[in-house]
Amino acid sequence: MFYIFGFILLTLAWQVSVCYRLRRGSLYKVAGQRMYIVSAVAVVCMLVYTVLPYTQIDKTAVGITCFWAVMVGAFCLLWAALITANIFSQAVYCNNWMDFRNGNLLAIMILPWGLIEIEKNMNKAKNGCLSIAEKVDIMFAEQTAKWPLAAQNYAALSDVKLRPIDMGGFTVYVQNNPGRRISTTAKIDKATISARKCFLCEENRPAEQKLIPWRNYDILVNPYPIFDPHLTIPCKDHKPQQIAEHFADMLALAVELPDWAVFYNGPKCGASAPDHFHFQAVKCERIPLIADYERLPLSEANGVKRIDNYLREILCIEGKEIADIEQRFGQLLQLMHKDSDEDYEPMMNLVCQYINGGWRLFVIPRAMYRPWQYSAEGDENIMISPGTIEMCGIMIAPRQEDYDRLSAEDVRSIYKQVSFSL
Ligand SMILES: [Zn+2]
Repeated sequence: MFYIFGFILLTLAWQVSVCYRLRRGSLYKVAGQRMYIVSAVAVVCMLVYTVLPYTQIDKTAVGITCFWAVMVGAFCLLWAALITANIFSQAVYCNNWMDFRNGNLLAIMILPWGLIEIEKNMNKAKNGCLSIAEKVDIMFAEQTAKWPLAAQNYAALSDVKLRPIDMGGFTVYVQNNPGRRISTTAKIDKATISARKCFLCEENRPAEQKLIPWRNYDILVNPYPIFDPHLTIPCKDHKPQQIAEHFADMLALAVELPDWAVFYNGPKCGASAPDHFHFQAVKCERIPLIADYERLPLSEANGVKRIDNYLREILCIEGKEIADIEQRFGQLLQLMHKDSDEDYEPMMNLVCQYINGGWRLFVIPRAMYRPWQYSAEGDENIMISPGTIEMCGIMIAPRQEDYDRLSAEDVRSIYKQVSFSL
């Protein structure tokens, strides 16, 4: 009996100390306070159970008190374990334990095991061993909890509607996302760009926006998301959107973010800040193009794969050597170059994924930015402004009416105009 109590008390003390250290470095203060209270109650109950039999109080009363003390103590222990699980899973996996998603709950409920896990992860964090992807998860949990703009816009995403449009053999989706209106209707002419403050420069960003530094970039939570989660990754320097000198970084970033698709909007085909170099990233499973690529028939020429009958040109370079991918991408650039590209690179969108030890680089050549429907008057007007996400199979419609009426014919027409076939 003595050993059991010793074990429980030691575990509790350990739990409290873990909690104390988590509190110092994280946001979970409220959970930490609750944890202190239940741990204290559990300790008191155990003490009552231990001490009461040695007192002169009536033995029946002692029995009843002991019974309840054990019940309350056990309940408190369980509760404390759940709270620890909550803090742990939020801090480390950014999941809510209510989701039962990470499957670690059972492990954590067996207290010492759970505590060992927490200790391991805290040491990792302390030694700076958290990967970029793990840091990104933690930043998301923090920003969507504490930054009202991000919290509101990510919460609103759960109401965003997604309608499939059957294109015969594959599906294109239309998403009704009013929050994207600013981006969809962004003016990117030189006069407008030079008249506004650059929203990607650090000095003009909202004070609440946190960053994870990586090479010469800042990894940020995109406060106007298309998907949950959605990252914007601007260069630290204010310099134009041109991929050439950043291409190797795109490949390296895809390695750092394994389940993410890192993408690039060319300055004249989707980037709403063409004056400030940036990537974006969303989770791979959100991108219909990636699922289609794995499922649909492909043809291959000169080491470049192509999805057949896909209504828009999608080329894919696969490889395990950076130099090899750079060389094949360079060859594609030459083919895409048009006389009108004097000051700029060829119009294109890029999507990069790192999978099974190799890269997949999707190159999406573009003929124009916006289809004629964008500037049409009256009923023919469609407010859709194709960037990478649209080319990947999700049409973002900020207006409800476009969401309601966009047809397969419209999608075909839009792709036909904005895609460039090699
Ligand atoms: Zn800037």
